[in-house]
Amino acid sequence: MSFPLKILTHQILGAIGKKTFHYPFGIYVYLTFSCNLRCSYCDGGTGQKFPEMEKSELSSKEWENIFRKMVRHSDVLMLSGGEPLLHKEFSEIVRCARKVGFTFISLNTNGLLLTPQIAASVDAIIISLDSLDREKSDRIWNRQGATEKVLETIQKIAPMGHPSLMINSVILPENIKDVSKVLEFCGKNNIAFSAGPALLKTKLHPSLKGNTDYHNLIDQILEAKKKGKRVAATIDYLKGLKREAKFDCQPVLVWRIYPNGDIVFPCSRLNKTIGNALEWPDPIDAFRKHCDGNFFQLDCKESCPLSCYMDVSFMIKRPLSLIREGLFRIKTFSSGHRMMY
Ligand code: SF4
Ligand code: SF4
Repeated sequence: MSFPLKILTHQILGAIGKKTFHYPFGIYVYLTFSCNLRCSYCDGGTGQKFPEMEKSELSSKEWENIFRKMVRHSDVLMLSGGEPLLHKEFSEIVRCARKVGFTFISLNTNGLLLTPQIAASVDAIIISLDSLDREKSDRIWNRQGATEKVLETIQKIAPMGHPSLMINSVILPENIKDVSKVLEFCGKNNIAFSAGPALLKTKLHPSLKGNTDYHNLIDQILEAKKKGKRVAATIDYLKGLKREAKFDCQPVLVWRIYPNGDIVFPCSRLNKTIGNALEWPDPIDAFRKHCDGNFFQLDCKESCPLSCYMDVSFMIKRPLSLIREGLFRIKTFSSGHRMMY
């Protein structure tokens, strides 16, 4: 099913109060939980940092097996971690994904191991950057020299004119002003920007709750978005962050797979799984079995302000917001880069 038809289907179902695990928008793969950073805010959903979450890793052959089954449901693949570039067979995994038919592959990385060759092999790159202040950022990431290295990488990658290069910042009480500078840096360099607040398990970081500086930063991001800067979050999402809004979560609009092939359900924040994708001839049957029928009602009392859950759930509820965002992206996400500090 084409992407617009999937959106329409989810919207019609949403309008009659139904949700479905069918027609996912993408397949999100945690290639590894290992990482070469130890960010202060890292949280795999359970309060544990990703690198502390033990999971065996699959080989490229095993991923190819899973990809063949998954690509029938979506040809959009998101590679993440941990730090996905620490997977020994990363490049081979990308090759396998292309071979089986994924047409859009994104990479979510901390940037330390990113090379121009790897950047050229994927369709979108999201690099973490929480501050331009090297010392402070190294402290947040718990690794000396890491920020300088990531900035050097961004300088190498950005001039390649990758149309979907994005910098993502995690907002903490101690880096609110720094994120504002990262936003300006992205604006000057025509790099797409996104940001989201730090979470503790499923909740907004308590020090951001009702925090005026945090709210002012969201206003600044909103303003940049309205001025046509390349901010990759919907206006509804940003307003929702500001209101600390509750939302009706649709966690399986994207299917998520852990490093050992386990299928995540309903979401990574709750860290629950429903069997291994290697073992199911068609992984949709794992959802079917678990949900006992085609539809399920997930009445989650949490409201994790993570864009990958909140923004996507908002978009389904608000068709106009979705159309506006689609037009905005067509207009703004297609030009090259020139570095400016
Ligand atoms: S880069 Fe990501 S996975 Fe690694 S420690 Fe930081 S938040 Fe965790
Ligand atoms: S709000 Fe969504 S992402 Fe958060 S715990 Fe509930 S189902 Fe999971």
